[in-house]
Amino acid sequence: MQLSAARLQVVGFGPAALGIPVAADRADVVDDLMRDGCVFLDRRARDEWRSLDYDIPSNSAAGDFLGGLAPDGRLRAPLHSAEGRTLMDNSDRPVPLRLAARFLARTAREVADYTVRFNRAHALFSTPVDHLYVDRDGLFHSRDARRRTLALSRSAVIAVGARPRTGHGTPPRTVTSEGVLRRECDAVCAEAAGTGAAIRVLGGSHSAFSAVGLLLREWGRELRPGQIRVETRSRVLVHHPSRQAAHASGTAVATVDPETGEINRFAGLRGESEELYHAVLRGAEPRVRLLRHGERAPGPVPRLTIAAIGYRARRLPVLGPDGLALYPPDRVTVDSDGRVLGHEGRPVPGLFGIGLGHCGPESTAAGDYPMAAVNIFHGRVASRIVAQL
Ligand SMILES: Cc1cc2nc3c(=O)[nH]c(=O)nc-3n(C[C@H](O)[C@H](O)[C@H](O)COP(=O)(O)OP(=O)(O)OC[C@H]3O[C@@H](n4cnc5c(N)ncnc54)[C@H](O)[C@@H]3O)c2cc1C
Repeated sequence: MQLSAARLQVVGFGPAALGIPVAADRADVVDDLMRDGCVFLDRRARDEWRSLDYDIPSNSAAGDFLGGLAPDGRLRAPLHSAEGRTLMDNSDRPVPLRLAARFLARTAREVADYTVRFNRAHALFSTPVDHLYVDRDGLFHSRDARRRTLALSRSAVIAVGARPRTGHGTPPRTVTSEGVLRRECDAVCAEAAGTGAAIRVLGGSHSAFSAVGLLLREWGRELRPGQIRVETRSRVLVHHPSRQAAHASGTAVATVDPETGEINRFAGLRGESEELYHAVLRGAEPRVRLLRHGERAPGPVPRLTIAAIGYRARRLPVLGPDGLALYPPDRVTVDSDGRVLGHEGRPVPGLFGIGLGHCGPESTAAGDYPMAAVNIFHGRVASRIVAQL
């Protein structure tokens, strides 16, 4: 049977993917999009939601998770849910990330339920996409591992997120900060804490200090002075609301947004992670020691390593009509309009990327995406993509 092409398909239906219907609703074009055909595909089951399911405070203020939804839009119902109201009541403060995750899961249900009103709109769950294929007519086929077309569309958005890096030559007994923050590594953390073995944390990011904070919170009584060693390759960045504040403090300043020239409010330690870092620096948290990467510390050899060294794009090959990849599948580069760049840096017509895992053309390292935050995905990134569909 020949499938007729939808206007759009979105591969991945996590927090970032939600930006597309949310921005379309803001622009009052969500019904047009759904009528013309819009398919969301995710490998997770309908009621499963793992995005941002971390047992730590958010890096964002609560309002950042709500800001994309139009208060008078068709998709406004999550704003009035219990989670939405709690976020609104705390809009300028960090909140438990699991609360934000429940709100986003609620928003995903709202979008999935909304598609049911339209013949050509669908949210397909338990549907892993193996790769995208662009045929000779420029149509996108999301395909399964047996090369069967799952959805056919005129444009496509990649929103499959990223997976944690573990690094080369990882020592035995290494877990990722992702696993620790999801509370999947409690047994090994408890054991290391209890036996007095050194716990090595690689990295100086929000994830690294959040993992340390979690160890102190859960097993802090058993931890001995210097038992946690945080090894960083570069200076630890601290968030500051302005350049002036950064210069006044004399600490390393977080990156500057290349587009607006503003201090990037999503890079650098904030909130509890920042407090913990300062406590370690002034010697008020003796259980944690800061080391330069490779520096040796006295005391027992580490038995557990927690890698918090960033994320890299989940693999989703995009193949051209000749079956060849249009770019290396684990380095997805997007321009400031959300267009995916193929070989020689030229946009692939009709193909967009949103969410964690994409890097800008100017970044040198794969996975270097400092503006990775829900309000950016739901805000300007999604608006720019929707305007081009
Ligand atoms: C520790 C940590 C804390 C963070 N804190 C904040 C914060 O406070 N505020 C903030 O704004 N951002 C935060 N972020 C950044 C970012 O907003 C989140 O990582 C967010 O989950 C990214 O959403 P995403 O949709 O890009 O990716 P994901 O959440 O990973 O979603 C991707 C979706 O794609 C699906 N998928 C993957 N592969 C396939 C495939 N082949 N076929 C079909 N479906 C597929 C997955 O099942 C999933 O549903 C944080 C990130 C981390 C790691």
